[in-house]
Amino acid sequence: MPEYHGTCLCKAVQVSVQVEKPELGICHCDTCRKWCSAPFMAFAAQDINLEPKDKVSQYASSNIAKRSFCKICGTTLSFFYDDMKQKFVNPWILKDVQNITTGVEVCYDNKPSCYSFDSKAQKYTEAETMAFVNLS
Ligand SMILES: [Zn+2]
Ligand SMILES: [Zn+2]
Repeated sequence: MPEYHGTCLCKAVQVSVQVEKPELGICHCDTCRKWCSAPFMAFAAQDINLEPKDKVSQYASSNIAKRSFCKICGTTLSFFYDDMKQKFVNPWILKDVQNITTGVEVCYDNKPSCYSFDSKAQKYTEAETMAFVNLS
């Protein structure tokens, strides 16, 4: 599986991650937009290695999910559900990723009407998205 490396904005946190397919999942939910000032875009990954741990802050944004970010510069690093093997990494912190495509747009019914992406991605409502999370 291809491995990618990168850093946060201030370079305090080093990231290494294996990503099977460089395909964006885009979440339009209120929490993600508040967190990122934009929809959260992510690659699915099994293991996301963030070092050193003492520079990474982790925040439980709900009772089923956590978000991590750099303690110094605040860069969005990763998102994961407590019960799900799959995790999600901010693709824009990774170097040298080729041929990025758009996979899915989730919580699409939460998307404000003032923006949209020119993508043919499969779109899922929040209810459909959460059903998938609960099955995983
Ligand atoms: Zn940083
Ligand atoms: Zn979200």
